[in-house]
Amino acid sequence: MNNIFVYIETEGGKVADVSLELLTKGRELATRLGVKLEAVVLGHKLADIAAELAKYGTDTVWVADDELFAPFRTLPHTAVLCGLIEQEKPQIALFGATPVGRDFAPRVSSALHSGLTADCTQLEIGDHKDPKTGKEYKDLLYQIRPAFGGNIIATIVNPDHRPQMATVREGVMRKEYAAKPGAGEVKPIDWKKFVKDTDLVVKIIDRQIEERKIDIKGASILVAGGYGMGSKENFKLVHDLADVLGGEVGASRAAVDAGFTEHARQVGQTGVTVRPKLYIACGISGQIQHTAGMDQSSMVISINNDPEAPINKIADYAITGDVNEIIPKMIKYYKQNSK
Ligand code: FAD
Repeated sequence: MNNIFVYIETEGGKVADVSLELLTKGRELATRLGVKLEAVVLGHKLADIAAELAKYGTDTVWVADDELFAPFRTLPHTAVLCGLIEQEKPQIALFGATPVGRDFAPRVSSALHSGLTADCTQLEIGDHKDPKTGKEYKDLLYQIRPAFGGNIIATIVNPDHRPQMATVREGVMRKEYAAKPGAGEVKPIDWKKFVKDTDLVVKIIDRQIEERKIDIKGASILVAGGYGMGSKENFKLVHDLADVLGGEVGASRAAVDAGFTEHARQVGQTGVTVRPKLYIACGISGQIQHTAGMDQSSMVISINNDPEAPINKIADYAITGDVNEIIPKMIKYYKQNSK
C-alpha cells in the first residue's frame, strides 16, 4: 500500500499555495486508493508546519529541518528527496510547477528513472490496458494536460516505473481543508545519510526578492482584454471597467504579444491560472490555451462582435457587439445603478 508524497515548498516559513492545492488533490487521490497522504518538507524553522498541513488531510509530515535546506538549493534537496523516495517507495510524488519544482522535480525523476509529466491540469486515478501487450493495470495516476500546442488533452500514464511523478501549476487545483483533518504525524528525515559534501558546493551569498506588483491570481473580479481591443490606447477601456467594478485586469497572449499590456497579466496555459467569481472577456476569441487558464471562473461574461466566438460556449452571458460601444455602456450603467 504505497503512499502519496507531496513536496511542500516554503519561503520564510510560509507554505506556498500550490503545495496546499496539491495536498487537497492528494487527499482525494489517497482516499480513492486507500493509502496515506504524506507531505515532505525540507527547510528551516518549520515548527508549526505539521499542524497546518494536517488541516488539509495530511497523515504524515516528513521533515528535514536544518539551515542547510533554506534557502532552497537544488543539490541537497534532490539528494534528500531521492533518498527518501528510495526508502519509502511512494507510488505517486507531486510537485508545484514553480521555479523550485521545475528545477528539481526533473532531477529527482531523472535520478530515479521514473518519468515526470509537467504542468498537469488534472489528476485522476484509473485503469489502463496496454494496447500492444493487452496487459491490464489497475489504479494508475492519470496525468492529464494539454499537448501539441493545446490541440489535444492528453492522458499520460506511467505503468512500469515508480513513483508516478507530476507537476501542477499554482492555481490549477482547488485549495480546501479536508472534511476530516489528518493526523499530521511528524517523522524526521534522517537526511545526513543522503547528503554528500559534493551536494553542498553551491553557496548562496545574497538573495533579492522582488514583490509581484501585479497579482491577478487573487482577484475576485477579473476584466480581461484580448486582441479584439484593437490597440494599447483602447486597452485602457479594460482598465476603466476593472476600476469601476473594483477588479483586476487580465489579458490574452495575443494582447500581450501586441504590446497592449504586461505579461504578468496574461491568463492561460503559458500565463496565470485564475478562478475569479466574475471573468469578463473583452475581445477574446477563447482559444483553448486561454480558456485552460480561466474556465474554472464562477461566472464568465464575454463581449465579442462574433456571435460564433468559441468563448461564448463557456460564457454564462455572451454580449454580441463592439467592445468600444459595450464597455463604455457597462461603465455608465453600472455607475448609474450602483449610486
Ligand atoms: P484573437 O484570437 O485574435 O481573438 C480576438 C477576438 O476579438 C475575436 O474573437 C474577435 O471576434 C474579437 N473582436 C475583434 N474586434 C472586436 C471588437 N471591436 N469588439 C468585440 N470583439 C472584437 N493565449 C492566451 O491567451 N494565454 C496563454 O497562456 C496562451 N498560451 C499559448 C501557448 C501555446 C503553446 C500556444 C501555441 C498558444 C498560446 N496562446 C495563449 C495563444 C492562443 O492560441 C490564442 O492565439 C490567443 O489566446 C488569442 O488571443 P485573443 O483571443 O485575444 O485574439
